[in-house]
Amino acid sequence: MSRTAPRIAIVGVAGRMGRTLVNAVEQEPDAALAGGIVEPGSTLAGTDIGELAGVGRLGVQAVDSLAAIVDDFDVLIDFTTPQVTLGNLAFCAEHGKAMVIGTTGLSDDELAQLDGHADRVPMVFAPNMSVGVNLTLKLLETAARALGDEGYDIEVIEAHHRHKVDAPSGTALRMGEVVAAALDRNLKDHGVFERVGQCGPRDAKEIGFATVRAGDIVGEHTVMFATEGERIEITHKASSRMTFAKGAVRAARWVAGREAGCYGMADVLNLD
Ligand code: NAD
Repeated sequence: MSRTAPRIAIVGVAGRMGRTLVNAVEQEPDAALAGGIVEPGSTLAGTDIGELAGVGRLGVQAVDSLAAIVDDFDVLIDFTTPQVTLGNLAFCAEHGKAMVIGTTGLSDDELAQLDGHADRVPMVFAPNMSVGVNLTLKLLETAARALGDEGYDIEVIEAHHRHKVDAPSGTALRMGEVVAAALDRNLKDHGVFERVGQCGPRDAKEIGFATVRAGDIVGEHTVMFATEGERIEITHKASSRMTFAKGAVRAARWVAGREAGCYGMADVLNLD
């Protein structure tokens, strides 16, 4: 397997991220677009994936099963649903493929199943593949260490388009986890995901989450550190899905040929 020019297949190629990924792989000289997979039985099977993505004919037809292109790719990029992703992981474990997983909304049990494949599959798994968001996570760690135990209340606010199915976003949860870890808190104990009715004043150590779903918002996240007299807000705004797609392609190039293991974007970007 080549380290510089991996052959990439995209699962969920007809989806919002799938189509953007076709575009991103096409623009990357050090990667080859090797296949696109649509849902089993989909009428889109056989369609040119460049035409699906609106970038013109590429001569690669969508298929509706991974098995149909098993010999054609090195790395599978998967932005679909938790159950589909876990099925694809089992396939990649069996066939010696690497994976880049952007799917969000995995339950604790599904995360444990994903982890169970880490000894056989080299994978990059990140709720947000944008370089800017991953740098933001580093900034949050620094801010939390400096402010968190000095009477600053921490709130995470996120906004996404009307079609998003999970809440809060995987990125918002990751931001909460990073802040909690920097303060020796546990998000399971200190995360507050709902406030309604007579819920009383906030606890000093809680980390609150608020979710907005509207229109075509690509993805916005703010972490607020607020105390009496001032507040600091660290915000990331994605204006195009291309930022996630480019990060995913970078991850695919990085993970091709690596040892099995579950890596994050901090590994890809060398941020640790
Ligand atoms: P989407 O619904 O537009 O696309 C999902 C696609 O997967 C659909 O086209 C669907 O037909 C396809 N699919 C479902 N089952 C399949 C199967 N068995 N085989 C092949 N294809 C199948 O959703 P989206 O907006 O593209 O988001 C997908 C996922 O990616 C979500 O979990 C979302 O939260 C996540 N996401 C992650 C990042 C990141 O940076 N990590 C960024 C954006 C979105």
